Parts: sequence; structure tokens; C-alpha cells
Amino acid sequence: ARQLVWFRSDLRTLDNSALAAAASRGPVIAVFLHCPAQWQAHGHGANKVDFLRRGVAALGDTLAGYNIPLLQRDIGDFSATAETLLAIAREHDVAALHFNREYPLNEARRDAAVQAAFHAAGLASHAWTDAVAFEPGELLTGQGHYYSVFTPFAKAWQRQVDAGRLALRDAPSVQAALPIAAEALPDAPRLADTPVDARHWPAGETAAADRLARFLRYRARHYHEQRDLPAIAGTSELSPYLALGMLSHRQCLQAAMAENDGHLGDGDAGLTGWVNELIWREFYQHIVVGFPEVCRHRPFQRHTEALAWRDDDAAFRAWCEGRTGYPLVDAAMRQLVQTGWMHNRLRMVTAMFLTKHLLIDWRRGEAFFLRHLIDGEFAANNGGWQWAASTGTDAAPYFRLFNPTTQSRRFDPDGRFLAAYLPELAELPAKARHAPPRDALGAADYPPPIVDHKAARERALAAFKALPRS
Ligand code: FAD
Repeated sequence: ARQLVWFRSDLRTLDNSALAAAASRGPVIAVFLHCPAQWQAHGHGANKVDFLRRGVAALGDTLAGYNIPLLQRDIGDFSATAETLLAIAREHDVAALHFNREYPLNEARRDAAVQAAFHAAGLASHAWTDAVAFEPGELLTGQGHYYSVFTPFAKAWQRQVDAGRLALRDAPSVQAALPIAAEALPDAPRLADTPVDARHWPAGETAAADRLARFLRYRARHYHEQRDLPAIAGTSELSPYLALGMLSHRQCLQAAMAENDGHLGDGDAGLTGWVNELIWREFYQHIVVGFPEVCRHRPFQRHTEALAWRDDDAAFRAWCEGRTGYPLVDAAMRQLVQTGWMHNRLRMVTAMFLTKHLLIDWRRGEAFFLRHLIDGEFAANNGGWQWAASTGTDAAPYFRLFNPTTQSRRFDPDGRFLAAYLPELAELPAKARHAPPRDALGAADYPPPIVDHKAARERALAAFKALPRS
């Protein structure tokens, strides 16, 4: 009997739990529902939407090689999901629906509504665990709670993970052609921004696999030494692919293990360090299920709800535009806007600068990041922002504030990253780029620091100390 596979953030044919399960039961029809109004309501911008559309096109081509037709509908927002899928199921005489679970609240509610509608219609539907090794709720503390601190979560993950959880799912085989035509990509939604150059981020699972192989060959063994240096391409730059499932975490982990004598948690320091980041990814996926209030714009730490964030539009704009007068912050923000991606070290530096030095609400920064990031992903972005703002799980203690100038000297010692994104500072001697003296700037149009580090630090500490303790 025919099986319907509904693709969402799992845009690949290899190692796909839902597709593998469906293909083992009968001929497969695939569907992707475009929801541009929902993506917009969730704050995603042109970079992510463009990458997603290119990913769906690539998926359609790959599926065609298996004779699996990909149907596509533009349904606006999530509200018409169940009726659309049911209509497709009935039209094509489908016996069961298959999809891989997504964890943020709106997605989980949509999926529950779909399953209820299929049940009511007497049709089977199957939700598969795919994006994580452990279903949220499976890894709990001794007291039966969700972990809210990363390190014990990671230890439990390492201890309990087994070969079955990480085994690659079967690839589908070429099926007999169905009398159903594949459908074209709907028209692109009209968005305020223009996406970044697609050539740097080729979409699809083949491009993702190439990038993974290159990372493992050239960078992975140096990852622990180079991952914090933004002037070096020392990280995998796989985040957009993982966010949309053009690559799976299992494919990453299996490839890392193959390079590391079958080990995950010990052996090569670069490879194990990288595996640890993939566990961070899973940690935040569990958080959005265990603490769903984070999906409602609420801080993880309730008492920080009362924090007196400053309404300072001019300062917010300066941060967005990379004109704070702190070169590392400014170079990073320009990297984000120009390329749609930002180095992890700099995500931490810029997020802390906005929330601590400028004392501006983390939710404004979270939204600005999502609008520009090609890898924008709710759980990781929210987790990262709340970490930096000291409102989240495992958060940086509020009194630990990065000094952006010290961070700059430490992680971009030659000022190479600064020069790449701040051409107005490129003529200065490298050492002077971190905190350019006014008289050295000449005619260069670069602003003085928007706040004094020490005074801003005191202001942030005072604001946090004023919070009632819960
Ligand atoms: P690598 O260092 O090669 O890591 C491999 C993979 O592990 C990444 O691709 C990613 O999937 C995962 N990963 C790495 N670090 C983290 C982390 N701290 N949390 C969760 N997953 C992680 N990541 C996103 O994928 N989407 C986001 O929207 C996002 N927003 C962030 C916002 C802030 C304020 C901060 C501090 C971090 C954010 N991150 C986000 C996490 C991290 O910065 C990026 O995943 C990483 O920079 C991507 O580069 P990479 O693929 O080269 O990572």
C-alpha cells in the first residue's frame, strides 16, 4: 500500500528515518508543504528561506532518481496542514503518513493536530525519532527531570548511546514508477531582504556530504585548537545543513567515529570536541520540549523576567549595523549581515555585548539573528541567546562578561578577521585594530566606542543584582 512521506527539516534521502520506514512498507509518495507566512511569523529571513527552497528543489531531483514523486503545496501558515495532507492522502489512496519529529512548540502542536486528523479519518500516521539520538524525555536526571545543565546531559548521552541509536537508516531503493507527476517549486515569497550569494551555500545532501568529508579530511583534527579563531575556517560550517536536515547528526557522528577508531567520547581531541558540539545541539532540542515556556518568548530562569532591559533603539541599530566602536563586535555583525553566518565565538561575543554592555533585551538580538542566519534554528538560537544573556540553562553567570577588546586580542591576534570585515581599519597596524586610537584613524569613518567597558559592566551587574531572587 502507498506510503506518504512528509518532509520538513529533513531534506535528504539518505539516513532518513521516516523515508526508510515508509520505503520498507510500500511505494512512496513525498510531499513538502511550503509555509512562508509561518516562516515569517517565526522570524526567518531571506537567507534561510532561499536555502530551504533550494534544498527542496535538490531533494525533488534526488527523489526522482528513486521514482519517488515530490508533491509541493504553498499553504501559507501551519493552519491548513492537516486538511492538505489528508486531501493528498485520499487523492492518492495512501495507507499511512510518515514524518520525522520536530520539537519546538508550534511544530509539535501542528504534528499532534495532523495525527489526530489522520486518526479520525481512519488513516495511520507515524512520527519517527530522527533529528536526535534520544527522544526528549528519554534522558532524564536521577530525579526524573530534564537536564538543565549541559555537562551531566552530555555524560548521560555518552553513557547511554548505543550502536542502534546511531545506526544509519536504510537508503530507499529505486521503486517502480507511479502514475503521479512530481510538482514544481511554488513561487518564491516576497521578502524584505535579498538572500546572500547562493554559491557559498550550495543546497542539498550531496553538497552537505562533500562539506562533511572536507571538514573531516582537513580541519577536524585541529578543531580543538582552531574552533575559536574566526580568521580561520576551523569549524565545519555544516550548521545550515544540519538545521534543514540535508545532513543528519548520525551521518556526522558515524563519520567522526570512522576517523577516530570507532570512538565517540575519547581519542582524537579535535574529533571528540566536535562530537561534543553535536551533543549541544541535541541538548537544546530537549530543552524546548522539557521547558516549553522558552518557545513563548519567556526566559528559562523565571526571575530574570523582571530585568530592566533598556529601550535604546539607537544603540540597537548601531549593534545591528556593526557600528558600536568595538571592532570585534562590529566585524562579527557585518559577517552576519554579509554572509548569513557568524562564527560561534562571535555569536557569544556579540550576544553578550548586546545583552550586557548595551543591556538590551536578548529577544531583540535573537530575532535579528534569525532574520539573517542561514542556519537559523529556534532551539540553538534561543539556547545561545539565553546563555549569553544569563537568563537560560547553564547560562553564563551574570558577572562573567566578555571584554570584547580582550576577546579580540585573544582570538584574532593578528587582526585578520577584523581587517576582512572592517576595511576602514585594515590600514592600521594589526595590534592597533583591536581598539583603534582616535588619532590613528585619520579620515577613516569608524565610530568611537558606544559605551565604556567598565561603566557598562557596572550597569549590567547592578541590573542583575537588582533582580528579586526566586
Ligand atoms: P561546528 O563547530 O562545526 O559544530 C558542528 C555542529 O554542531 C553545528 O553545525 C551545529 O549544528 C552544532 N552546534 C555547534 N555549536 C552549537 C551550540 N552552541 N548549540 C547548538 N548546536 C551547536 N546554531 C544553529 O545551528 N542555529 C542557530 O540559529 C544558532 N544560533 C546561535 C545563537 C547564539 C547567540 C549562539 C551563541 C550560538 C548559536 N548557534 C546556532 C550555535 C553555534 O554558534 C552554531 O551552530 C555554529 O557556529 C555553526 O557553525 P559550524 O557548523 O561550523 O559549527
